[in-house]
Amino acid sequence: MSKYKVNVISNEKEVTTHELELKQPQDKQVLIKVDACAICTLEQRVYKGVMKRYPFAGGHEVAGTIESIGENVKNVKVGDKVAVFLLTSCGECYYCRKGLENQCVQSFRTSIHEGFVGPGGLSEYMLVDAKRVYRLADDINMSHAALTEPLACCVHSINNAKVELGNDVVVIGVGIMGGFHIQLAKLRGARVIACDINKGRLDVARKLGADIVINSNETNAIEQVKTLTEGRGADVVFCTAAISQLAADSVEMVGKLGRVIMYSSFHPDNPIDLNVNKVHSKEMIITGAVNPCTSDFLTSTRLLSYNLINVSDLISDEININDIQKAFEKAIDPLTYRIIVKCNR
Ligand SMILES: [Zn+2]
Ligand SMILES: [Zn+2]
Repeated sequence: MSKYKVNVISNEKEVTTHELELKQPQDKQVLIKVDACAICTLEQRVYKGVMKRYPFAGGHEVAGTIESIGENVKNVKVGDKVAVFLLTSCGECYYCRKGLENQCVQSFRTSIHEGFVGPGGLSEYMLVDAKRVYRLADDINMSHAALTEPLACCVHSINNAKVELGNDVVVIGVGIMGGFHIQLAKLRGARVIACDINKGRLDVARKLGADIVINSNETNAIEQVKTLTEGRGADVVFCTAAISQLAADSVEMVGKLGRVIMYSSFHPDNPIDLNVNKVHSKEMIITGAVNPCTSDFLTSTRLLSYNLINVSDLISDEININDIQKAFEKAIDPLTYRIIVKCNR
């Protein structure tokens, strides 16, 4: 019986490699040879000790190739390139039955590798139910494909914001999530205004299609957005930076009937002052976006398979799985974009 490797965050700043027995898929299972797994904020927080849940088999942004299939698998065949949807949902709760499985009461309690909690993408192989894999184009770049899940989160966010043709859309923060929001808002026909305090990131924003960039270190971004919109304020503001002041600024930037999306999660979760009368009289909508639904995930696989999204500029490095510690150290540098772990190279 052959073995395969799984990487597990075993403590603060500590990753250990375990060897497990490689099992063959049964019934409706598929065995995936993992090509690429990106290190997301969740894994970074566990690694840094911000979230102490050890041991944690991290890695939920995964793309791989079908190695073998169970006897009742119909949707994929051996050799297919796939993205893996690792967000679990029970299918039985109120939200699942409304088709909003991203709000499932039991979401994200995956355990892919025997004995370890967590989605487990930082491994050589994964054995999962066939319904979790989504087929991709044969010629797709697998490092790009690993970003299906974060892009799907942004698709969900764009859908929540109901971005319309000709809207003024502000994206606060040009990290990877800001970069995806810029591109998706452009695809929806908006004029996109990107805000950041880092010049390099604003250059990336322009490259990804932002029409206007604002360096919030140099200008008052709220005033600037008002000026650009004849005093009205934006139609949509996405806050993709986890800073409470920026969340407050987002509410100030939006105009009548505008939508504010709190995309980031906040740790620590410092409350902000909210002028409720403004919400009342402007009829503004303040909402969030957390995790994708299956339909968002499907949309994301199509956007990537059809090459409609620039992913190259949002990947800082590709690192071999044997250098996993180095990959984590690089990933936690706040100025890097995604670090991709190549799991079988
Ligand atoms: Zn993620
Ligand atoms: Zn559910």
